[in-house]
Amino acid sequence: MADMNDARAALKHYFGYDGFRPGQEPLIAAILQGRDALGVMPTGAGKSICYQIPAVLVDGLTVVVSPLVSLMADQVAGLEDNGIHAVYVNSTQSPDEQSAALAEAASGRCDAVYVAPERLGTRQFTDFAARNRIALLAIDEAHCVSQWGQDFRPAYLGIGDFIANLPYRPVVAAFTATATERVRHDIVNLVGLHDPQVSVTGFDRTNLYFDVIKATPTAKRQWIERYVTARPDESGIIYCATRKETERLADDLNDHGIAAACYHAGLPPEQRHQAQRDFVNDEVRVVVATNAFGMGIDKSNVRYVIHHNMPDSIEAYYQEAGRAGRDGEPARCTLLWSDGDINTRRRFIDMENDNERLSPEEADVNRNRRRVLLDAMVGYCRTTECLHKYITAYFGETDDVPCSGCSNCDSEFETIDVTDIAVAVSRCVHDVQVLLGPDGNGRPRNLGAGKLTQILRGSDAQEMHDWRHLDTAYTYGKLRDVPAARIRDVIAQMTSDGYLRVEDGKYQTVTFGPRAGETVRQDFHMVIKQVERPAAASSGGYGEGSAFGALGTSRKARAVPDELSGTDAELFERLRDLRTEIAREIGKPPYIVFSDKSLRSMCELKPTDDETFLEVNGVGQHKLELYGERFLPVIRDFLA
Ligand code: ADP
Repeated sequence: MADMNDARAALKHYFGYDGFRPGQEPLIAAILQGRDALGVMPTGAGKSICYQIPAVLVDGLTVVVSPLVSLMADQVAGLEDNGIHAVYVNSTQSPDEQSAALAEAASGRCDAVYVAPERLGTRQFTDFAARNRIALLAIDEAHCVSQWGQDFRPAYLGIGDFIANLPYRPVVAAFTATATERVRHDIVNLVGLHDPQVSVTGFDRTNLYFDVIKATPTAKRQWIERYVTARPDESGIIYCATRKETERLADDLNDHGIAAACYHAGLPPEQRHQAQRDFVNDEVRVVVATNAFGMGIDKSNVRYVIHHNMPDSIEAYYQEAGRAGRDGEPARCTLLWSDGDINTRRRFIDMENDNERLSPEEADVNRNRRRVLLDAMVGYCRTTECLHKYITAYFGETDDVPCSGCSNCDSEFETIDVTDIAVAVSRCVHDVQVLLGPDGNGRPRNLGAGKLTQILRGSDAQEMHDWRHLDTAYTYGKLRDVPAARIRDVIAQMTSDGYLRVEDGKYQTVTFGPRAGETVRQDFHMVIKQVERPAAASSGGYGEGSAFGALGTSRKARAVPDELSGTDAELFERLRDLRTEIAREIGKPPYIVFSDKSLRSMCELKPTDDETFLEVNGVGQHKLELYGERFLPVIRDFLA
């Protein structure tokens, strides 16, 4: 039986890495000992290696369940390039190709076979599985099994049955980047993991600078234009909520002389493919995309991710923002949002109807879950806390993380004490419940945020006087001098903080949340962020201008990778050109040949023989054989 020494040797031999990263070792050790495993690690932490190393070491085949058919070819190409023989079986292949791939998998020459979850339920595959020994079942993006997330994929629910119907039980290892406690629980139960070794690595990405800016649509566009223009050499991704917005923004940037590609699921495959290649090949620096973009793209030098709209959950946000700075160098994640974004997201959830497998009741439950996720996202926009802390706490980390850079800790906003407003709002909800009385089921009746605001501001609208005598409420006119927008902001924040809860029915109404009781305590205190920033602030001034300034001046906000010195930079360029050339020859993306990090490591080590070339980060035996003869002469030439 293989042990961790074999694992370390395989890591060096196949991948060219000197040691395991935090979290990888216990998972691999467990799998090698025949125990189930659950790996929860942020994007870029290195989940794949946790099943790829066992795949080459265990006796028998590894089946990798992966949700994205479009990525399998690249994933397999990456493995092959490291000297690991793998195949995939999916719907992009003809029936003959599928049979050929399965025959290859059955031949004993193969270490891994990649399939989508839907395939596990096919007759062809269950037959295959009954006849061949599957030693390890690795489940990528395992959170898709849970309805507590936006990526729920019903076919993942079939994995448990697939395992149960096998003649013997393989080791099962599940991996995800986005697991809250609830999702983790679902994975263990729904996939049916047996006493798994659970490894949760720190969710904090200390090289990322987090920035939240509230802005109008026009201000968002201006901000993005300026930000991108100021960084002609950096790669970045800009996420938009809709296809139309991606097109509009990409056009806009191109009109301003910034080469930007557009990517969304509505474009023809060739065009999407091209956009992705151009980005990965560094031929365009900026991609404006919907969330369809980026899954599995292992481009390590993305220096910024900008969200033009608020996503619908922290999970989605962190996954997308997390595509910045995979190389560990400083990178910036900016979230631009507006109240309109929140309304749009709420509408999306209300209208969503795409899950045919769910009964109306289940769909309702699902919608409510998504509202909970959305509230947490809104909370992120509004919080005055450290943004790193907010995210790590969301993912269940209780340790206080020191801030490694965020706009809240750099205090690019002022806070306003809204304790009095919050207390009045809370009391107003109570007044309304008393005035309206219970409904037929004995439950308190409530009004929406707009009506509450009218009452609090002492509106003279006729219905205040006629209907249920709202004008007799104790809080009627209590906040006469407070702008309506402020009251609504406070209601929104109280909702995300749990003092209030929004209920959906024919109309959205506001009722008490689980923390409502705190609002009547003596020591109750609440602040909100003064988020409005001047749209066209000059640099150095308060507001978004200072967000710009901070990039150049603040140590923490520095978003420039460690620069190579002059001559090394020249070598880097040459190596990068060679990498592009090879990538074109073999028709694969450059990162499959070598990562930027490997190129940088070559610039530092300047290897001139095989032995030193193997010391380069990311160079294993197979890569040495494939590319050593191409890269070594360039380095020798450079030194001469
Ligand atoms: P994830 O699936 O968690 O998003 P990947 O498996 O794609 O992450 O790994 C991210 C990058 O880190 C890849 O380029 C991978 O080769 C690299 N990597 C993984 N493990 C190690 C390691 N032990 N040492 C160095 N690099 C590693």
